[in-house]
Amino acid sequence: MSEGTGIEGLIRSNLVNLNGYSARKSPETLKGELEVPVEGIIKLDANENPYGCSPKVNQALASCPDLNIYPDAGQAEFRELLAGYTGIGAEHIVAGSGSGDLIDLILRLFVEPGDEVIICAPAFSMFRFSTEMYGGRLIEVPRDKDFAIDVSMVRAAISKRTKIILMDNPNNPAGNITPQKDIQAIVDTGLPVVVDEAYVEFAGRTMVPMVSQYKNLMVLRTFSKWAGLAGLRVGYGIFPPKIADYLVRIKLPYNVNVAALVAVRESLKDLDYLMGNVKAIIAERDRLFGELEKIRFLTPFPSQANFILCSVAGGSASELYQRLRRKGILVRYFDTPLLRDYIRISVGKPEHTDALIAALREIEK
Ligand SMILES: *Cc1c(COP(=O)(O)O)cnc(C)c1O
Repeated sequence: MSEGTGIEGLIRSNLVNLNGYSARKSPETLKGELEVPVEGIIKLDANENPYGCSPKVNQALASCPDLNIYPDAGQAEFRELLAGYTGIGAEHIVAGSGSGDLIDLILRLFVEPGDEVIICAPAFSMFRFSTEMYGGRLIEVPRDKDFAIDVSMVRAAISKRTKIILMDNPNNPAGNITPQKDIQAIVDTGLPVVVDEAYVEFAGRTMVPMVSQYKNLMVLRTFSKWAGLAGLRVGYGIFPPKIADYLVRIKLPYNVNVAALVAVRESLKDLDYLMGNVKAIIAERDRLFGELEKIRFLTPFPSQANFILCSVAGGSASELYQRLRRKGILVRYFDTPLLRDYIRISVGKPEHTDALIAALREIEK
């Protein structure tokens, strides 16, 4: 090592100044910062499932054999199970350690330093994270005031260096849906297009049936939200078989662990229970929306997902976030130019809505 450069002189130049993903704090790390005990925290900041996972998952994991054996790197059982769930052939499916793992793998496959990646901003923050990881340049096409996508603006943003277009549908953080004809118009550009359907079970609309008709359309899904498995890290993508083959070649061999596979197996056996929870969350989302509309300083946006974005009047979103936090209610605040005046609230159980609304009414006074 030459003098004066230090270890930083050896680190990849595009990573030296990377900020990293701003992950939510775990409740146990907040001890001492709040007016309530850690057990009393109401966590509405990461779109997690308030009903947890299927009890069948807990039972099966308690007596899970084979933890000493590596999982199947070829993901054969996983791919068959998900072929059954999605109705598309197993050759289209690749599993990941959360769908975040697949976003990372897709960009690893396509993006060389200097390549451009188009997103419709605001969007899921992992899109930026993985683009920068591979030295790509993020091109942000702004959504309109209702967070809708303008397809002509997306087309206009395409250059010789554009490698891929990433969209989340429903959008995180706004929760709105992009019409299928607009997505199709973007897919018709011929560029690789990723449609992240992390919230599809809450929204009910999917591009999966179209994947077999296109060579460039990819759809991502996750068990984190609808199935309550965020902590076990399991997601998957539906790809043209050629892309699936490449992804399997470049992924870490054992990227989905044995416990996650057990959890997927049991979750898919307990669909009625899990979809019952999804229904309860959808009903609660609609009630929460009505209650938020009544708060003078908030304007909620209609959502097809398990969260609601609100604009906060008077530029006080950060202060609102802090005040709720001191009361033990965690919501998502984004310290970015586009989202500085918004908070995003995950849909919890009815009692979580009640506590949140009571706190907001107190702040309103
Ligand atoms: C929550 C979320 C995911 C899920 O990520 P995992 O890695 O599967 O937990 C993916 N995409 C979007 C848009 C999300 O909001």
